[in-house]
Amino acid sequence: MSSHAILQTARAAHETMRQARRTLHRNPELSFQEYETSAFIQKRLTELGIPFRVMANTGVVAHIGSGDRCVALRADIDALPIQEESGVEYSSTKQGVMHACGHDAHTAMLLGAAQILKERESAEGASSLGGVIKLIFQPGEEMSPGGASIMIREGVLENPRPEAIFGQHVNPDAPCGTAAFVAGTMMAATDELYWTIRGKSGHAAQPHKATDPVLAAAHLITQVQTLISRRLNPFESGVMSICTIHGGHATNVIPDVVEMSGTLRSMNLEWREAALQTLQDHTRILGASPLYGGGSAELRIERGYPPLVNNTETTSFARNAAENLIGVANVEDFEPKMWGEDFAYYTHEIPGTFWMLGIRPPHLDFTPGLHNSKFILDENALPIGAALLVNAALKRLA
Ligand SMILES: [Zn+2]
Ligand SMILES: [Zn+2]
Repeated sequence: MSSHAILQTARAAHETMRQARRTLHRNPELSFQEYETSAFIQKRLTELGIPFRVMANTGVVAHIGSGDRCVALRADIDALPIQEESGVEYSSTKQGVMHACGHDAHTAMLLGAAQILKERESAEGASSLGGVIKLIFQPGEEMSPGGASIMIREGVLENPRPEAIFGQHVNPDAPCGTAAFVAGTMMAATDELYWTIRGKSGHAAQPHKATDPVLAAAHLITQVQTLISRRLNPFESGVMSICTIHGGHATNVIPDVVEMSGTLRSMNLEWREAALQTLQDHTRILGASPLYGGGSAELRIERGYPPLVNNTETTSFARNAAENLIGVANVEDFEPKMWGEDFAYYTHEIPGTFWMLGIRPPHLDFTPGLHNSKFILDENALPIGAALLVNAALKRLA
């Protein structure tokens, strides 16, 4: 199937994808609660005559084609706890829940890919695809521990084991009609940090008789930034942000306890481990310092996703395939981001590539970003995204 034919077939499926995306957009569901979404996907696959199984409660895995080889395509299906303010006529009907990360479009595009692949299989036989194409509709991307890790544990990458996996994410920073790729590390490891700094309450005018956790917290906030400036190779990336701090209730009382939380984002697994250990050690030492009167401090770490690392070979392959499909001028370099994305889990199991799909309406200079209550996307990107998926899978198996 030529790139041109794939694009034509995807354009013919545009309206079906648009309707699917709008249905999903009206009915967003939070991470790991995607029951109606899962039912919608299963119904559509049944209509298309594609066999599937349910995994991780609300996830769906479908298989098309036959043969020894296998390639996987993945879409995430969950929405966010955001009250929609986009103003589109197909806005969310659920209070406080919105598809503000474009996972409705990801799902619609993978369903579109399923339709195109099934039509080809029906017309030319199961072996015409060159192998098995595994379609992964994955729940819970937006919530730790990430649906990807659960599906992998439940065996989504076995029987058959894909030789490569491809996925995509809508990108409001790039115009519709484009796609962007980066080889190597694309997104960060994300770890959540929760500090508890304990002191001893006392009169504000007699700090020497108290143990002040507020001052210790203030010093901790500035000192831990040293991790980035002095413990990270300047040629590597990392960032730490402390984003909440709570303590005290009166102007003249030194409180007993201060709580803070934040996030560490890192690109390198080895440095990540060392950094978390350093943070833990420093927190303990600082909290117990006699300078503050000998309190205590502890850091609880909730590990997030590993870094998303695009395989060099599958990425140059997918990029070439995309250039054939939409033209060299429409394929761009993507600048890595310190975002987290649970597609990362697949990339640590098998070679894989995650690309960004431009969705900004071309006549606009700016559209609200991902996770914004006013997020919108140009639905003309739907056939392009579906075609990119089909094209990558078929070319890989050819
Ligand atoms: Zn998101
Ligand atoms: Zn997302």
